[in-house]
Amino acid sequence: MSENRIYNFNAGPAVLPLPVLQEIQASFLNFNSSGMSITEISHRSSWFDDVINDAVTRTKRLLGLDDKFHVLFLGGGTSLQFAMIPMNLLGDGDSADYVNTGTWSTKAIKEAKILKKSHKVVASSEDRNFAYIPKNIKFNKDAVYAHITSNNTIKGTQWAQFPDTGGVPLIADMSSDFMSRPFDASKFGLIYAGAQKNIGPAGVCMVIIRDDMLKRCPDNLPSMLSYKIHADKNSMYNTPPCFSVYCIQLVMKWLEETVGGLSAMETINRKKGALLYDFMDASGFYKGTADKDSRSLMNVTFRLPSEDLEKLFVKQATENGMGGLKGHRSVGGCRASIYNAMPVEGVKALVDFMKAFEKKNG
Ligand SMILES: *Cc1c(COP(=O)(O)O)cnc(C)c1O
Repeated sequence: MSENRIYNFNAGPAVLPLPVLQEIQASFLNFNSSGMSITEISHRSSWFDDVINDAVTRTKRLLGLDDKFHVLFLGGGTSLQFAMIPMNLLGDGDSADYVNTGTWSTKAIKEAKILKKSHKVVASSEDRNFAYIPKNIKFNKDAVYAHITSNNTIKGTQWAQFPDTGGVPLIADMSSDFMSRPFDASKFGLIYAGAQKNIGPAGVCMVIIRDDMLKRCPDNLPSMLSYKIHADKNSMYNTPPCFSVYCIQLVMKWLEETVGGLSAMETINRKKGALLYDFMDASGFYKGTADKDSRSLMNVTFRLPSEDLEKLFVKQATENGMGGLKGHRSVGGCRASIYNAMPVEGVKALVDFMKAFEKKNG
């Protein structure tokens, strides 16, 4: 650890790669010899053009996306997308399929309902407090899209493989596992991810939308809610969250040039997940809350034998330089978020601490 930084296991906003933070710090007062900070330059300047275009280029290169896909940077958080998706993509007589795998899926479904857009919940894992990802789902052939949450930040589950929708375009909220592994993007009509979990600071949501989805956007939407307008203007219909976009650019550069791409990132993430889960499976003191075949490599949720022990665990972990381990209030227990930027050493330190804690209190 350096600069008195802790191992940050917060679920979001969350840890960012140290080299990225250092680069931001070094260039903060004088960006690219402009004599201004990135927070002071015009979004219409060639300096910012270079930033946003490089962020788009690197994102598309990392995911292997062709020209059919458009990368947008939008304000309003991930939660705005829950409404923008049905507003833009569902016309009269259209319907969409949703899979409910937790808090964020539930919120996405709620917005479709508020907007009175026809939709069907084709599968849900609510019967067991969302501890698993449903299998063998029957999607409706005529659905305009099939919406899933790729990683359930709060419940600690993740789709190991994306479902076969029989050709229905997938839409995924990938906020908490975006860029953590390679995947076949060609099946997706739209991908969205709030930056503050895995790719940057809060304030921006990345939306990747395919041409055929973009064509569905109606002309009668308020401009700020229209994917078509944001795409036509390269995310600069209004002032975009410039600083957050800049940070994303640096994270994508780090992924490409330091990590070596998404396969290399996945290898590291699998190693971190195995360290933690293998230890927990053998311990008996710590119990994972998600089914084994559904558990997340990003958010590891677990319980201790009692709530008092959980409180003590979180307190003593904090005293030992490990923060953010308290679980979400809707699940209780503990959660270690081990996003891309969490180094393997951080997970090793956590496992060492967990061993010592079990020895003393088990
Ligand atoms: C955090 C999170 C959200 C909510 O993001 P906001 O930017 O706060 O709206 C949505 N979906 C998932 C999967 C998340 O992890």
